[in-house]
Amino acid sequence: MTRMHRILLPAAVAMALAACSGQNGQKSSEQSSAPSSQTASQAPASTRPAMVDAARLTNADKEPGNWLTTGRTYSGRRFSPLKQINDSNIGDLGLAWHYDIGNNNHGQEATPVVVDGVMYVSTDMSRVLALNAKTGKKIWEFDPEVDGAWLLHVCCGFVNRGVAVWEGKVYVGTLDGRLIAIDAKTGKQIWSTQTFEKSRGYAITGAPLVVKGKVIIGNAGGENDARGYVTAYDAETGKQLWRFYTVPGNPADGFENKAMETAAKTWTGEWWKNGGGGVVWNSFSYDPELNLIYFGTGNGAEWARSIRSPKGGDNLFLSSIVALNADTGEYVWHYQEVPGDQWDFDSCQNVILADLTIDGKPRKVLLHAQKNGYFFVLDRETGKPISIKAFAKVNWAKGYDMATGRPVFAKGIRYDERGKPTLVVPGPMGAHNWYPMSFDPMTKLVYIPAQDNSFTFELDKHYKRKKLASNLGIMFEAVTPVDDNGRPVTAPKATGSLLAWNPVTQKAAWRAEHIGPGNGGVLSTAGNLVVEGTADGKIEIYKADNGEMIWSTPAQSGVVAAPMTYEVDGDQYVAIAVGWGGAYALGADSGVPVNVNRVLAFKLGGTDKLPRMPQPPHREMNPPAPTGTPKTIEAGLHIYHRYCAGCHGFGAVGAQLNPDLRYSAALDNKDIWFSITSDGALQAGGMGAFGSELSHDDLSAIRDYVISRANATKGQ
Ligand code: CA
Repeated sequence: MTRMHRILLPAAVAMALAACSGQNGQKSSEQSSAPSSQTASQAPASTRPAMVDAARLTNADKEPGNWLTTGRTYSGRRFSPLKQINDSNIGDLGLAWHYDIGNNNHGQEATPVVVDGVMYVSTDMSRVLALNAKTGKKIWEFDPEVDGAWLLHVCCGFVNRGVAVWEGKVYVGTLDGRLIAIDAKTGKQIWSTQTFEKSRGYAITGAPLVVKGKVIIGNAGGENDARGYVTAYDAETGKQLWRFYTVPGNPADGFENKAMETAAKTWTGEWWKNGGGGVVWNSFSYDPELNLIYFGTGNGAEWARSIRSPKGGDNLFLSSIVALNADTGEYVWHYQEVPGDQWDFDSCQNVILADLTIDGKPRKVLLHAQKNGYFFVLDRETGKPISIKAFAKVNWAKGYDMATGRPVFAKGIRYDERGKPTLVVPGPMGAHNWYPMSFDPMTKLVYIPAQDNSFTFELDKHYKRKKLASNLGIMFEAVTPVDDNGRPVTAPKATGSLLAWNPVTQKAAWRAEHIGPGNGGVLSTAGNLVVEGTADGKIEIYKADNGEMIWSTPAQSGVVAAPMTYEVDGDQYVAIAVGWGGAYALGADSGVPVNVNRVLAFKLGGTDKLPRMPQPPHREMNPPAPTGTPKTIEAGLHIYHRYCAGCHGFGAVGAQLNPDLRYSAALDNKDIWFSITSDGALQAGGMGAFGSELSHDDLSAIRDYVISRANATKGQ
């Protein structure tokens, strides 16, 4: 990876988003109500598949053989009471079956759901598979045939993080904004509703959650002209029941509710013209006793606050945890983790609900490991912070003032006010991103796919808002961070680890270092196991109590999704979707030379074997002779990174996702280049038409830049 490439890489996240027990002997409600001897075959009998109702979802922990929501239970702990596979017999774990998903240029981010022996999993391009969970045999596949032209609005891979099930139906949100109910038996569509205006820059990559017959879904696109919101739809009909916006619209249009009126006082300028951001692009948790739905909101757009809200302000409810009444969608409380965010510190990482004893008192808490490097323990009844400590390297704040709940910002960290290239730790990739963490009520530890990274922010003084570009308001060129005296500052190395964190003491219990960042989500089980896939293509199992690695197997692909576990006919399985994708994949190979998207399922005594790993295709890079001038190449670099990098990779390396433009035959001929980039000759395949915003001079500059990159690569 070139130096420039390394510097630019973290900006991928921006485009993303599109584009989220007991203590001292007191058992948690989940733990105490989870007889681990119960099996899936003892679950409520049903002749129809996916017959999940409110009682089953609320009591999901009493069905250890099933995994009824992406987080397994409404608390989102991603912990299973199953312990047939445990730290004493892990050596017998082998592959039970594998299923080839295909579409190997895309990544896999979904956690499968398993109901009564059937697995439902969304794959790339919002497709959904139903598999026999015992054998891996396909029962049906649903393809929503996502509009290729819409892929232009998707920042970080054509991924989907999972489905929800209810009363014989499976729900998926599609990249082009449909929420679809599928018949769990036949795989046929029952209803479909468009959840956003297609005149704006939204997409959906997150998983829905069903609460009492309402399907809750958010959206992505915070950097691409989007005003964030969460909507509840009737699970039977698809009719909209309520909607909660996360940021205010134009005050002249009136406010939807009191919360928006209050929030608008924390904004300045004309933020609504670019939507404002605050999208809810990941996941939801729910507390049935409090009847509250919890989620994190995204960053604002533009990133630079001086552009988005010129006279400052906290910009509610960006980068916040929000609690809503599940029946009405009414605001109950919020806690803003990053007031006036301008560093892409989304709060969309998964939210976990737990019961902990803190300072001798039982507390209903909400656990959150933010992109910004801090671990938040909130009172989930009130939203008041209980404790906040750094779990990763941080330079943007000196900690949190617990009297106010606000961070103590480091001097000069607001790069737009400082006016110099400013090193920020962590960067937009985050100390913890969407890769789900897990809470084990037995060890009382949270297992976090953690990472250290940084990014150099510099305000784009010539910035103009565009419809088809990522609207961040920062520079894309490689810049060297400097201190206040203009001396270069050294950026820390990007690293990744599996971190076991004690949420009561707010200290690390153990840490397992990985080769690099961008590793997958986490599962913990009562077998004293923590399971995680890695960016460099392995599935690893650690002892939950002490972090000893006790099992590892090649996945033949980089892994970003989270594992899950279930039981069928007396056998426990651990399953995971593998396939390299997401924001890191826009700028970095996984370390595995090819990508093979699969669902893998393991059990004790499993004897299945993966086929030999395919060889990477041999490709010749034959770019034309260098074109343009240093000036056009520099201009092309800037335009490329606003318009093209979200799909084709930072530094024009392509990675393993979309076409690597350095190999493109279209570079040879300007007319062909323009017919594709300006006129949309390849629009059906998802390549946008940019003629409405970019002149032939602009597009020619991009070509000069890509040709320069191809020649530089070839000459290496
Ligand atoms: Ca973001």
